Amino acid sequence: MLDNKTDRSAQVVCPECEGRYAPGDFTTQDVEGQPGLKNIGLGCPHCGHFMHCFIEDARMRRYRATLMQRRIDWARRNTPGNWRAVERAKEKFGRVFDETQAQWRPALGLPAPGQMGEKERVLT
Ligand SMILES: [Zn+2]
Repeated sequence: MLDNKTDRSAQVVCPECEGRYAPGDFTTQDVEGQPGLKNIGLGCPHCGHFMHCFIEDARMRRYRATLMQRRIDWARRNTPGNWRAVERAKEKFGRVFDETQAQWRPALGLPAPGQMGEKERVLT
């Protein structure tokens, strides 16, 4: 997520009004005609322009939840086994993330993976 300290200071330039802002929380939009599918991005505080970052579906949310659970397990008990479980869950989530973007971006006419999407994938 973007609540990382180094990312707080990062400036995003709005493609619509060219206003600069620090990315805060993600804005989530429904995708018309695709229940369960969410368009995740950033909302410009100046003009309200929505900037797409990535697409999320139910499968991706499941893998994200698993990864979060593995991290909680690791925080509770720092065992090598728990660490490997985190690494495995991270790898699986990364794969599902890429598959989801490859599947939906062309279908929805959304821009190719940007920097924000990549950051999200790495930091989640
Ligand atoms: Zn703007």
